[in-house]
Amino acid sequence: MLMGKLRLNYQVFLITVTVLILPLIAIGYYFYTTTVNNMKEIGKERSVISISIAQSLLDNIGENLLSITTSNSHWEEYRIAIGTGDIPWIKVNVDENLSSVPVLDFIVTTDREGNIVSQAEKEPGVTSKLAFKEVLNRLEKEEQFFGLVDTSRGLAFIAASKVTSEDGTAPSTGNVIFGSFLKDETFQYIQSTLQARIGIMSQHGQTFSSHESITEEKLQNYMLHADSSGISTSSYTKNETIYASAVSVIMDISDQPIGIFYLEQTMQTSTNIIKNLKIMTLSATAIILILLLFQTTMLQRRVMLPLKHFRTAIEQVASGSSISEIPSSVVAHAEQSMLTLFDQLHKLSYYDYLTDLPNRRYANKFLQGALKEAAEHRHKVAVLYLDLDRFKNINDSLGHSTGDELLKLVAGRLKAVIADKGVVSRLGGDEFTIVMPKVHDLSEVSRMAENITAIFRESFIVQDYDLFVTSSIGVSMYPEDGDTADALVMNADVALYLAKDTGRNKYQYYSSNMNSGLVDKLKIESGLRKAIDNNELYLTYQPKVNIETNEIVGMEALVRWMHPELGVIPPNEFIPIAEETGLINPIGEWVLRTACVQNYLWQQQGYPKLKVAVNVSVRQFQHDDIVEVVKRILEETGLEAKWLELEITESTIMNYVDETVRTLNELKAIGVSVSIDDFGTGYSSLSYLKLFPIKSLKIDRSFVKEIHKNPGDLAIAKSVITLGHALNFEVVAEGVELEEQLEVLRRERCDILQGYYYSSPVTADQFVRLIDGKQKGNPSNKS
Ligand code: C2E
Ligand code: MG
Ligand code: MG
Repeated sequence: MLMGKLRLNYQVFLITVTVLILPLIAIGYYFYTTTVNNMKEIGKERSVISISIAQSLLDNIGENLLSITTSNSHWEEYRIAIGTGDIPWIKVNVDENLSSVPVLDFIVTTDREGNIVSQAEKEPGVTSKLAFKEVLNRLEKEEQFFGLVDTSRGLAFIAASKVTSEDGTAPSTGNVIFGSFLKDETFQYIQSTLQARIGIMSQHGQTFSSHESITEEKLQNYMLHADSSGISTSSYTKNETIYASAVSVIMDISDQPIGIFYLEQTMQTSTNIIKNLKIMTLSATAIILILLLFQTTMLQRRVMLPLKHFRTAIEQVASGSSISEIPSSVVAHAEQSMLTLFDQLHKLSYYDYLTDLPNRRYANKFLQGALKEAAEHRHKVAVLYLDLDRFKNINDSLGHSTGDELLKLVAGRLKAVIADKGVVSRLGGDEFTIVMPKVHDLSEVSRMAENITAIFRESFIVQDYDLFVTSSIGVSMYPEDGDTADALVMNADVALYLAKDTGRNKYQYYSSNMNSGLVDKLKIESGLRKAIDNNELYLTYQPKVNIETNEIVGMEALVRWMHPELGVIPPNEFIPIAEETGLINPIGEWVLRTACVQNYLWQQQGYPKLKVAVNVSVRQFQHDDIVEVVKRILEETGLEAKWLELEITESTIMNYVDETVRTLNELKAIGVSVSIDDFGTGYSSLSYLKLFPIKSLKIDRSFVKEIHKNPGDLAIAKSVITLGHALNFEVVAEGVELEEQLEVLRRERCDILQGYYYSSPVTADQFVRLIDGKQKGNPSNKS
């Protein structure tokens, strides 16, 4: 559509191209200027380092000079000659020194009062302006020193020392001052070492490697801009090259400014980058201009093509293609959004994408801060660990998007109820923490936990569902339950675990003896891995009975675990752990095989042929090869498929409907029937229910429990029966314990019963006895 218009209207094309290209050039320009600025800053920093090195290289010269000076000044004969005024002797030795030591340019000797005893110089006249007064002043205070002085011939290092005996015991008889001019060779040596241009400008106009001379005004200016170490920096660009310089002010021996020492560097690598950047931007612009020219003259269509690619690429991005599939020119465009991205990234690392609440990392940081403050001000901190009850059911049966919406609503209510009393964050899944940083009294925490529990009393409306959820909360307190963030969160989690274990929809404070319960859980977890190999698992069988005829029509295999330490463990305690750890697959396969083998044996032994029902958990059912596993086990055990039934819970079956329908059809094809277990506890969509090729519905025992006295439960059971029959399913009631319950179920035309009323789950041997006895119609075995 856009292309059509472009072909018709050339002006639109031009405008579009310009609009597309301008940001590109802007990005190029932006990168160019930021690179240059960065490089300038780096250059300045480097120059400061280099000038410090150069300064210390220079100082080395002064130090060397000083060591020559001091070794002379300890010469005993010299000391005696000055004391006695033996000038010829001094002169000979001074002259000798001057000619044999290359760095020396002049030597002056004075007596103790400062009168010149001897004066020797390589170039006549240079010592006449020496600032003797300052030298002597300093020698009053210091035995020896070195420093720079300004002479008519230029800057010179002087080193001065009192003339004393070698061990310093005899009194000094005078002073020696050795001088050395700063020479171009020295500067060249330092320049090549540092790869920088350096120079000194003194007030007398003396410069090294420089074309500039220094004025009083310049000197003042440099001093004004210098940092604490006396260095000032600047940088500029000329012909694509960045020059960075550092300048330090030079002080003379009486601490008066006498000139500047400067260093200038070029930023070599940066030059290339900048050149390339500039060339790139310029050539991009040039290419575009050429393209435009091309377009305007004759080859409109050929330009249209790249443009079309460009557009296609953008469309690809929009439709979710990966970056690598998109031309780099388009990707370049994205750079501008980079900053926004960084911003978002920061947000991502501290906030939860779904609910916008702070995340685990934020919570941890906040808690650590709160603990620090609490330690100082001696107040308490509360950590509330909240988890929604049975959230997984909602996710499994209504889908993750419903689950996500629910979490958002929960987050909103939590935020409102907590207000400024704490910080709520989402740790992940349906887990939240609330940190109350300033607690003075435990009642504040209890009130908060109650208020939070209360926000779940009203339903959450998500899509078209009216959802009721509850929450369980574990609470730990600083300092009682731990003094680190980790310990407090862990203990709040332990308390939460207990809150869940003892009925949910409540809050629970941590107490130190809770951990033993967890130890049991860990024991179960580690023991479970060995349970199959150690033959610790066994099956019990619970009959299913026709309500009308009282005949056993099948049985449900229920697994038990004889734990070597903890005794018999019911499945509710280890199946969830097996699911969490993935052990459910080998365990489930063992149950399936054992139940099939047992049923086959009974049939071989001549007992009436019955259907054995095996529970299949969600994780097994979602395993890719569940159908293959069932097929293989039937083959291996020799049991006919029609004598096997799988029980799948309502939430499992409502999960991933398309796949479920496929799996159920495959099971039906091989002749295995399926029933929906615990019906009524999940969220079934009736429209899906009719898609499933299943044989029966099992009314959950929670509705059967009070069916004879609770009209609500009766209504639910009734509607399940009606619904089941309408869809041609057989309806089973589980957990039937009482005659009264049976009466109601019979009246409502429920087909089959299972429960203690008839028999609790029993071992294989007991089950045989049950069949033998039962066929005589005799309820028993309510163990
Ligand atoms: P379910 O499939 O709903 O099994 C029925 C449960 O109700 C059994 O508990 C049974 O002992 C109990 N029950 C039977 N009659 C009565 C009654 O009259 N009153 C009461 N109060 N309860 C009754 P059990 O054996 O503890 O199993 C609990 C759950 O563990 C099962 O619920 C099932 O979901 C799961 N389970 C058991 N065996 C296996 C297995 O081999 N594999 C898998 N994946 N899950 C299993
Ligand atoms: Mg079952
Ligand atoms: Mg059940």
